Amino acid sequence: MLLKVLPVGLLSVNCSLIVDEGSGKALVVDPGADAQRIIRELENYELVGIVATHGHIDHVGQVKTLKERFNVPFYMHPADTFLIDDPIWHGFEKQIGANLPCPEPDIELKDQMEIKLGDTTLRIIHTPGHTPGLCCLYEEKSKTLIAGDLLFRGGVGRWDLPGGDLNALRNSLRRIFSELEDDVLVICGHYEETTIGQERKFNPYLRQLL
Ligand SMILES: [Zn+2]
Ligand SMILES: [Zn+2]
Repeated sequence: MLLKVLPVGLLSVNCSLIVDEGSGKALVVDPGADAQRIIRELENYELVGIVATHGHIDHVGQVKTLKERFNVPFYMHPADTFLIDDPIWHGFEKQIGANLPCPEPDIELKDQMEIKLGDTTLRIIHTPGHTPGLCCLYEEKSKTLIAGDLLFRGGVGRWDLPGGDLNALRNSLRRIFSELEDDVLVICGHYEETTIGQERKFNPYLRQLL
């Protein structure tokens, strides 16, 4: 698997391009803004799907543009559909670089579902808390977790937004930290990457939550 992480938009959302090198098939995760840059990066690959880790506008803002350009299915957990056309964002599309309304998902993510790109398999782990539908993508061979806003370097996702739930977040974090080993690379929804081991040792929120 080849992974390219592009920070996009005002809020620096980490948009991930996951490429299966053998087949050239690619998946884009969280195309929140900067669609033209994402399209340029996809030039040599065959895009086969668009995934949103969750329904916040900064993560789904350019799903519409990419769907129209490539005509591929959009995957998201159905519990987040209520977020994708939240009226609080109306009028702010330009500032956040979004093309709204985001379309509804064509394929609903669910826990333990697998998305296959040639020889690369991504397993879905449903980890609610930041939003009810937040899903991580895990690639076993490279031990890479795309975590959306579940976990950050030194932090965790906020639980005070609509649909947020502290208890659910705590259970999701417990699950991730019991299932995954310390050398798993974590691509967070914003800012720097980290590892499970680094967060297990140094993340002050986890000490309180786990
Ligand atoms: Zn979010
Ligand atoms: Zn976010």
